[in-house]
Amino acid sequence: MDTSESIHVAIVGSGPSGFYAAEALLRSELPVRVDMFERLPTPYGLVRSGVAPDHQKLKQPIQVFERIARTPEFGFLGNVTIGIDVTIEELKAAYHAIIFACGAQKDRRMDIPGEDLDGSHTATEFVGWYNGHPDYRDRVFDLQQEVVAIIGQGNVAVDVCRILTRPVDELKTSDIAEHALDALSQSRVREVHIIGRRGPAQAKFTSKELRELTGLTGTVATVDPEQLRLTSACETELASNTNVIAQKNMELFRAIAANAPQSGLRRIHFRFLASPFAVQGRDRVEKLSLVRNRLTGEPFRQSAMATNCFEELTCGLVFRSIGYKGVPIPGLPFDPMRGVLPNAAGRIVDGESVLPGLYVTGWLKRGPSGIIGTNRADSLETVESLLTDLAKHPPRYAPGLKGVAPIIERRCARVVGLADWFDIDAAEVERGTSRGKPREKFTRIEEMLSLVS
Ligand SMILES: Cc1cc2nc3c(=O)[nH]c(=O)nc-3n(C[C@H](O)[C@H](O)[C@H](O)COP(=O)(O)OP(=O)(O)OC[C@H]3O[C@@H](n4cnc5c(N)ncnc54)[C@H](O)[C@@H]3O)c2cc1C
Repeated sequence: MDTSESIHVAIVGSGPSGFYAAEALLRSELPVRVDMFERLPTPYGLVRSGVAPDHQKLKQPIQVFERIARTPEFGFLGNVTIGIDVTIEELKAAYHAIIFACGAQKDRRMDIPGEDLDGSHTATEFVGWYNGHPDYRDRVFDLQQEVVAIIGQGNVAVDVCRILTRPVDELKTSDIAEHALDALSQSRVREVHIIGRRGPAQAKFTSKELRELTGLTGTVATVDPEQLRLTSACETELASNTNVIAQKNMELFRAIAANAPQSGLRRIHFRFLASPFAVQGRDRVEKLSLVRNRLTGEPFRQSAMATNCFEELTCGLVFRSIGYKGVPIPGLPFDPMRGVLPNAAGRIVDGESVLPGLYVTGWLKRGPSGIIGTNRADSLETVESLLTDLAKHPPRYAPGLKGVAPIIERRCARVVGLADWFDIDAAEVERGTSRGKPREKFTRIEEMLSLVS
């Protein structure tokens, strides 16, 4: 349906939060028409380009997203960047409301000398590269290096570590990009250090992901038992029945501490209470300078304080995985500290003022936390705010897509519609079948567009 009575909502971004927002809107009593704009020709955000290739089951939400996309009142416009191809003002003029669901596209920086040396990378680059994201297709990682340091102790750090250490034969049947599989099959990486500024009780890994690192074929995980000594505040934290994940992690770390580093095996080494203060090297990464930390403060509010003990870790590659930030969208307010669009229950605010008709959801709303499912509740809240506002202020006429179609036609080379995406999808699956993979992704935008032209 696309009548003059329709409520036209634009959603910017096609990751989980965008799709859950679309689902909530399309389930409402109102005659809503949703147009989803995505800068890539492919939908699903980090479910396609973030979730690890050897975790195919975690990509199952795609089936739900696909069902939502097939709703008649839903439109997909891929290969359109909002803020560049179409301005916010132009979109505002055409739609009753806009929901921004653009995620957190940038890594936080360490802001230390040498961070930009060759061989020092962000986790986003590496993850995007092995997952076939077109932005990272041509990145080069020197996998001839034997020792790697990963800064950060969350699940993305675990993903990076696992992809670096898992036998390549076990990745062959995943949807890992072919160029990454080729490079990993030549890899000489032998030792991966996962470094966290706080202690084992504060590591952000979930236990399932941590456990997986302890059972990789041909790899042994190690930790210095001394590093597992806990302060009384840590003991208090671990005793809390709200801290089950940390308790399980601690059990795992104690088991890991009993492992002997065996020769011939790849090693994963957990290092706690250490912060990098310089990446060193003449032309490329040669070592990481670390300062040892101690924890101070009340249980659950402990912070890492630098001591005057220093150490150096010789390594040839550094990946930082210390959090993500959204990027500013031209024409919208932005909170640079948190990397989010300032909002109240999903309504975008500028100082004290609510900006009518503008909403935000997902990582761009709350920051990079939670799992895929967390975005559902988040998007429900945003849509509830939107529907409440519509009920209070009955909408004027808005043309919806008709209003921006001429602009898009003028400025965008080729819009990828839903049927186009399904063609790309089918071609990827077909390419994968002959290689025993669920799909072989197209990793260049031109390849995707040539398929649908
Ligand atoms: C490496 C990694 C691995 C992860 N693994 C898991 C996992 O295994 N399990 C799990 O539950 N969670 C996982 N997560 C978390 C999960 O992916 C996020 O919770 C979720 O993707 C956030 O959804 P989002 O919609 O806010 O953002 P995103 O998924 O990032 O989607 C944002 C979308 O907006 C598009 N976009 C951005 N700017 C514009 C613009 N200006 N115009 C048009 N489109 C735009 C982007 O291209 C993207 O498609 C992982 C996260 C990362 C980083």
